[in-house]
Amino acid sequence: ELLRLENLSKYYTSTQSVVMGLNNINLSFERGEFVAITGESGSGKSTLASVIGGMLPYESGELFFEGNPTSHFDSADYERYRRDHISFISQNYGILIGCTVMENVVSALRLSGMEQETAVCKAEEILQEVELWEMRGRRAAKLSSGQKQRLSIARALAKPAPILIADEPTGNLDPENSAKVIELLAKAAKDRLVILITHEFEEAADQVTRHIVIQDGQISMDASLKPFSAVDSPVSAKRSGKGRPLSLYVSRLQLGGRPVWSSLVLLFFSLTAFAVFAFLGTFVVALDDTNTRIYDASAFLNGDKTRVVVAKLDSSPMTTEDYEKLLQVEYVKQLETYGYLTDIHYAYQDGVDYKTYYQRVDSGTWDDPDLSMKENISILPTAPFMKSVPLLAGGQTFLTAGRLPENMYEVVLSGAEDQIGQVIAVYIRDDKNWGYGVLLRFDMTIVGVTNQGMGLYFHEDMGRMFTTSVMGNAITGSDNWLNQYQYMLAPNEELADDQWRCSEIAYGKFKSMGNKTMLLLDLNTENLIEVLNGENALEAFVRKQFIEEFNEQGILPYHTQLYNKFAEVSPQTFEALMWKKNSDQVSLNIEDYAYTDRVLEAVQGMGYLAVSPFKESSTKQDPELAAERMQTLTVCAAALLAVVLLQVVVLRALFGTQTESYRLFRNIGLTCKTANYSILWQVLLFTLGGQLVGFAGILICRACGVARIVELMRYLPAVYILLLSGVHLVASLIAGYWIIHALDRQVYPLAGRQTDLALETEEVAL
Ligand code: ADP
Ligand code: MG
Repeated sequence: ELLRLENLSKYYTSTQSVVMGLNNINLSFERGEFVAITGESGSGKSTLASVIGGMLPYESGELFFEGNPTSHFDSADYERYRRDHISFISQNYGILIGCTVMENVVSALRLSGMEQETAVCKAEEILQEVELWEMRGRRAAKLSSGQKQRLSIARALAKPAPILIADEPTGNLDPENSAKVIELLAKAAKDRLVILITHEFEEAADQVTRHIVIQDGQISMDASLKPFSAVDSPVSAKRSGKGRPLSLYVSRLQLGGRPVWSSLVLLFFSLTAFAVFAFLGTFVVALDDTNTRIYDASAFLNGDKTRVVVAKLDSSPMTTEDYEKLLQVEYVKQLETYGYLTDIHYAYQDGVDYKTYYQRVDSGTWDDPDLSMKENISILPTAPFMKSVPLLAGGQTFLTAGRLPENMYEVVLSGAEDQIGQVIAVYIRDDKNWGYGVLLRFDMTIVGVTNQGMGLYFHEDMGRMFTTSVMGNAITGSDNWLNQYQYMLAPNEELADDQWRCSEIAYGKFKSMGNKTMLLLDLNTENLIEVLNGENALEAFVRKQFIEEFNEQGILPYHTQLYNKFAEVSPQTFEALMWKKNSDQVSLNIEDYAYTDRVLEAVQGMGYLAVSPFKESSTKQDPELAAERMQTLTVCAAALLAVVLLQVVVLRALFGTQTESYRLFRNIGLTCKTANYSILWQVLLFTLGGQLVGFAGILICRACGVARIVELMRYLPAVYILLLSGVHLVASLIAGYWIIHALDRQVYPLAGRQTDLALETEEVAL
């Protein structure tokens, strides 16, 4: 005895009503029997088939399999029961229509635990038996209905289960095909129990060994028609027990069987990956609020976004070794060895329109012989900042003609060859040190021309003069004599060591500015005091010269705290006072503002002080820009959330279409756990595939120069890719969890049998 039902009843309960599906059934079956069950529509045939097949739980009575009760089964027990003992054929074929005939049979064998190669051999055998051998490579969808049903029988036969249930297998078939199906079922009954549920008893009457009629959930007739011989049960294949490879196999079938669907899902994932990149990226970029702030030039005059100022922690001068190291840093384009120069404006008359370069400002009382300088001249804010020759990489090679400057009164400019030899008046304005609107004029000779971008390139002495700063204006408040006499030094070849003179080529109106927050000026000042207080005879001389001669000879007409002169000394004196050959502050010019944080981090990591003037000095929020930024952040966050939600919802919907095929897999023994894993595999494959395609799209956009994408790629560091993948994956996993939950409820209802039977109405379809 294989199967026995004792007083078995099955109710369909919903919140409104209770429907009696089976009422007090008593039946027993043996191997070798071919049983036809008939009855009117709605009488309970399918319910009986589902209960016997372990697909629906029952409420009272008992079902014995090989003498063992099943009423205590939990979902895992039911899974095992279905997997090992039941083959199921339904009216709508129950085949994987996207897969080939061969794959359909092989999958059934694989799910019953067979290895791939053995499964293929066995499948060939079975396909010959059901006369589908010629069709083995064809997609199941393309078969005729008779062929489909034979394939479904082949699937059922492939499984070495002792019970085969066929629920109206001939419902859609013509008599000829029906006869073939019945024939095959009769053959199958030789070594198992075959239960055939049918409308048309006549077509099976010759073959069946027993006829049961159901009416209103009860047995109204049970007649033996023929003797039958019990043969040994089909040999069960050993299960490999490896859940995961099988789940991967199932996912592969699901994806391969529906190429259009799979491509659509992949496309969808690519779009979401792209969208997550764009929105999350914009969000991350907008987190930096520097762009919405107003620049305050009190610390750094030049707030160039691509500028990074670097100094050493011990404030010692930079060496060529440092320059080389800093130039190695990624994204660093140029290095201005005299960093402070880049905070100083210049302008020069180049024979074009004077007034477009300068703006005259009434200076008031200052009396001066040079008419053109009678009034102060302000350089427009758009005037370029100074650069020194070392900035131009490659030494001489950047010159298109001429030579490099050899003293501070020579320059190289970006211009035409015929300009070489011309003398130009260069106006220099150092707002930080001299006060706003104060100018020095230098008459400079053009000695070389370059094509390396706009601007003038000055000799290193110029850089040293400004950046190692012997100007005393930062020392106000101390009792040092420099407090009273502020001056600038310039070297002059014509002068001997004990000579000095007030410069005729440059002059200015110097104003005491007080201590600046600028790091390097302070450092310089300390060093300067050290030198000036030192025992060096040359220094002592210079100090004496200045103090005495300024006072006694009255060379400086206005030697008050506010007015000062430009002084020239011999090159030796200049060297002695500007003892630092190199400056202690350099300016890096980086490829794009987007890389600022990365460059700062790298340079600081190398043990330097590094600041971005633009970031450091952008202090007050511009309310309008700030509001705009908040809006960007909000919109991006909302869009990101929408994309994630959309991904979850759409994914859930897309995978909803797989429910049917999972039912089929379940019918041939796919366990709930393996099904879940196979869903996860699919979600994972789609997510990663989508990310790959999405990235390809992003790279293509960058290659095509889509501004937004190019900008994002610049701003976002590589680790951002992980963040993006993470967010995208989380959305997928949420969806995956939801899909699994729904699938388990719909396809594996027994998993929740105690709690949620009302939700199982969809099972009617079985
Ligand atoms: P048959 O297969 O003989 O046509 P079924 O076994 O499908 O009949 O149905 C038997 C009875 O149980 C019918 O009255 C049907 O309405 C009811 N029934 C079947 N499935 C469900 C279900 N999931 N929920 C509620 N009632 C159901
Ligand atoms: Mg039915």
